[in-house]
Amino acid sequence: MSDFDTILRGGTVITPEGVSRTDIGIAEEKIAALEKELSGSAGNEIDARNLHIFPGVTDSHVHFNEPGRADWEGIETGSNALAAGGGVCFFDMPLNAHPPTCDVASFDLKASAAHAKSLTDFALWGGLVPHNLEQIERLAECGVIGFKAFMADSGIDDFPRADHATLRKGMKRAASVNRLVAVHAESESITQRLAGEKMTRGMTSARDYLASRPVEAELEAIRNAIDMAGDVGCKLHVVHVSNAEGVALITDAKKRGADVSCETCPHYLVLTENDTLKLGAVAKCAPPLRSPRERDALWERVVAEEVTTIGSDHSPSPPEMKQNTNFFKVWGGISGVQHLLPLLIGAPESIDHFNGDAGETPALPGKGLSLIARLTSFNVAERFGLPKTKGRIAVGADADLALFDFCEKYSVRAEDLLYRHKQSPYVGRTLTGRVVQTILRGQTIFKRDRILNQRPGRLIKPL
Ligand SMILES: [Zn+2]
Repeated sequence: MSDFDTILRGGTVITPEGVSRTDIGIAEEKIAALEKELSGSAGNEIDARNLHIFPGVTDSHVHFNEPGRADWEGIETGSNALAAGGGVCFFDMPLNAHPPTCDVASFDLKASAAHAKSLTDFALWGGLVPHNLEQIERLAECGVIGFKAFMADSGIDDFPRADHATLRKGMKRAASVNRLVAVHAESESITQRLAGEKMTRGMTSARDYLASRPVEAELEAIRNAIDMAGDVGCKLHVVHVSNAEGVALITDAKKRGADVSCETCPHYLVLTENDTLKLGAVAKCAPPLRSPRERDALWERVVAEEVTTIGSDHSPSPPEMKQNTNFFKVWGGISGVQHLLPLLIGAPESIDHFNGDAGETPALPGKGLSLIARLTSFNVAERFGLPKTKGRIAVGADADLALFDFCEKYSVRAEDLLYRHKQSPYVGRTLTGRVVQTILRGQTIFKRDRILNQRPGRLIKPL
């Protein structure tokens, strides 16, 4: 009889507190031991001496578009790509499924599709739209991770924007069942007015689109959401904040005692509006990519730990929806779930900005690595109230691990993307460090380009 199912020996282990060389013993899906020199035997021994071991990524923001629009991505390809990037759990947004996840029946449809097809664990967002306020409590009982509302047009006809009254009532009901509300914060009035002005003058280029969604449109919506959530006592999470001033509004509100958090995405940290101008539709998103100056200012907020989580906002579409001479009509969404962790660790911009103290790894210092683990795993588990077995490398936690080789330097190639549609603005970018193996509850789900055939993913509900 072995003492453990698996032992990882000699790896550099990243925890929220720091980085150290530690052996990991896994038994019955859990981390059973963490010791410098672990004695005992295992059926499976992994030599991790040249590897960094992160807690598996929980990507709290993806659009896998199933059921109903699996031709855009789908849970099978989406979760495969997540695992190839060190991911063990995703939170799927409610809007792009058809039907959208706005009632119990649609929740059940998506949950059963994910049970059948997901390689990784998953949680589901519920929608907050004008016609589903009566469903909030029932969706909470189903186990939604939180409620998502759009303060501007969502781009999906059957997921309408939450007007002021809807958002307020929805926040009140969400608070009564102890769920947070996440907002896409852009001002409808500002973006509609500016887009309208451009379009009526026939100005439909990428540059015109960028100009129609200024930072101020985001700031106005963030201010409104903070005020409203504070009024009704609702926990608020502002997704995909693209700029430093937006984060500062949230930091100020927190100082005043507000229960508010925020997310940013790798594309706001490694890309700029110049990439939208150069690459076109593949680098279109909302809020849009910002100037290099804005990007650097956002980095300062990340490093100062004012950003709570980083999610990919993976939002693909069929290629034909990316082809329109009118840039306003092109589908807005960036495909990035496969590179969330690799970008944060190994994009040149990340290496520059996380480079806070003496380097003890080839690329990044321990402080930066630990912060990345918090942003992509620990903080997600904490903020969304996941079971205490999730989001950390600790004895008793689920053995959810991403094994990373810092020595590999490579270019992202379209043929390596596991997405249904092999498009991403990161194609051609050079990254340092590669995910070589991903372990979900003790089981290897990805190893060196090989994807596990089984679909072990489980629904994760907040406590
Ligand atoms: Zn999104």
